[in-house]
Amino acid sequence: MPNPTSAGITIVRGDITEQDVDAVVNAANSSLLGGGGVDGAIHRAGGPGILAECRELRSSRYPDGLPTGQAVATTAGRLAARWVIHTVGPVWSKSEDRSELLASCYRESLRVARELGARTVAFPAVSTGVYGWPLEDGARTAVGVVREETADGGFDEVRFVLFDERAYGVFAAQL
Ligand code: ADP
Repeated sequence: MPNPTSAGITIVRGDITEQDVDAVVNAANSSLLGGGGVDGAIHRAGGPGILAECRELRSSRYPDGLPTGQAVATTAGRLAARWVIHTVGPVWSKSEDRSELLASCYRESLRVARELGARTVAFPAVSTGVYGWPLEDGARTAVGVVREETADGGFDEVRFVLFDERAYGVFAAQL
């Protein structure tokens, strides 16, 4: 069971593909055509229908790829969730502050969730895997934005799903 913290924000150690929420967020890449980590796991567990919708989005709305910091939804195939919200996190940079783009991933994903009518949303720790974002900093941004965006009570639950103990600990400390 997710461990409730402050109003509507929960945290759980687990696999994003196994969350029974209205929408799960995918740490996608701009191609929308799949990748490793969360992206690979979502497409493997959700089946080929998600990729087919992503291809369609590429040819219709995003011929040059989904820009970093934006979010777009597909249905969720075989996942328990109804929708997957794909967002593209920024790659960590030492020389450039890209925090606004990371904040934008969380904000835009929740905006899309609201449009869909999703009341429960699960997030992975966007950008903290292959994209190299330091966990503490990523957690601070994630929690800050989600607090702001949930303050109006527009969601029943926004859940952070952390894959390993260390990430769980870092997010728990932020909350
Ligand atoms: P990015 O490319 O945005 O860094 P990754 O998918 O590589 O995205 O990793 C994002 C975070 O998600 C990392 O902290 C990673 O450990 C974690 N992660 C990987 N697989 C899963 C999963 N199945 N469920 C939840 N979190 C996951």
